[in-house]
Amino acid sequence: MIGRAEGGAAAPRDRRAVRALRWYHHAAPATEGGPVPQSEATLSSTVSSLPPTTSTTGAATATEAEAGPESDRGGWLRFSPAQPLFRARAAQRLAVLAYHGVTDPRSFGAQLDRLRRLATPVSVQDVEQAIAEGKPLPPRSVLITFDDADRSVLTHALPELTARKIPAAAFVISELIGTDRPFWWHEAAFLARHGGQARSLRSHVRPEQLLARLKALPDPDRRRSLHELRVSARRRPPGQEQLSPEDLRALQDGGVAVGNHTLGHPCLARCDDSTVQAEITGAHEALTRWLGEPPTAFAYPNGGYDPRADTLLRQLGYRLGFLSDHQLGPRLPVHPLRISRLQVDSTTSTRRFDTILSGLEPAVQRWRKGPTVAE
Ligand SMILES: [Zn+2]
Repeated sequence: MIGRAEGGAAAPRDRRAVRALRWYHHAAPATEGGPVPQSEATLSSTVSSLPPTTSTTGAATATEAEAGPESDRGGWLRFSPAQPLFRARAAQRLAVLAYHGVTDPRSFGAQLDRLRRLATPVSVQDVEQAIAEGKPLPPRSVLITFDDADRSVLTHALPELTARKIPAAAFVISELIGTDRPFWWHEAAFLARHGGQARSLRSHVRPEQLLARLKALPDPDRRRSLHELRVSARRRPPGQEQLSPEDLRALQDGGVAVGNHTLGHPCLARCDDSTVQAEITGAHEALTRWLGEPPTAFAYPNGGYDPRADTLLRQLGYRLGFLSDHQLGPRLPVHPLRISRLQVDSTTSTRRFDTILSGLEPAVQRWRKGPTVAE
């Protein structure tokens, strides 16, 4: 079902969206492929078919019927007249998919089948080689990556990837390897739900705001807040079995390159210089020890670029760095330590998956919500 903004809000909203989509189309560097002709009428019709937004801008509000399941949110864009145009343009760009875990192996397998049919899966080594030789990757190149890498990457994703001979990369939080400690953001949410208190969270924080509040703190304050939550909560969080060093080697042997995602997944922008150094070099040394060779790829925790990390990564010999900005990138990355990625999930519906791959859904999301930042 497709809704429209009501009354007078529709026209200005359409004009803004058309401008946004036109900007998106024209702002791409020339190296990313030639222009695809598209008329304002096509873009207009796409945008006028947008469901009302829940943003603060105005008059329109989403109804329950329009909201739909998260896995298919925006899936209706698949039928937009702009989709073929975005898809044609996406053929000339690199799609790096950023998954976290895989909760639905069957759906993930179906996504991989779709990629095998419609795209050219590439490996970390392929991307590194393209950059070293200055030759763009093949049209419709797609690289699959996993951030944080919970055990489902080994148990659910690896068998599906191996069965189809599709390479991937997993970015791990080194200090969790071989432990049963949960991710700190899951732990904080659990502790807050069970009476945990922290001075920095003294004013009322809704559960959905907790993570954003913690991420906004200077890193020493985030760590102190976590400690305060731990000592004040009524219950301890359940353990979460993490990957072991042997599991990392099994991933590597199965064609999943293991990359650096720092020691403890802080927001680098909130860390001082020495913490940035310790987080990256500590993880680098541990991974080198476990894998028998130094990692060459890095994913910024929380997806945000940090120039101090960039300098350090160059010194350590890293060849690729990945953001979580929900965008396609050029087939020959211009900034190898700042490669864009698209956020997907194993439960993402096929319709939505197609519009993410084409860049249409990310373009519409940017217009509606602004830049995307992920974990
Ligand atoms: Zn992460």
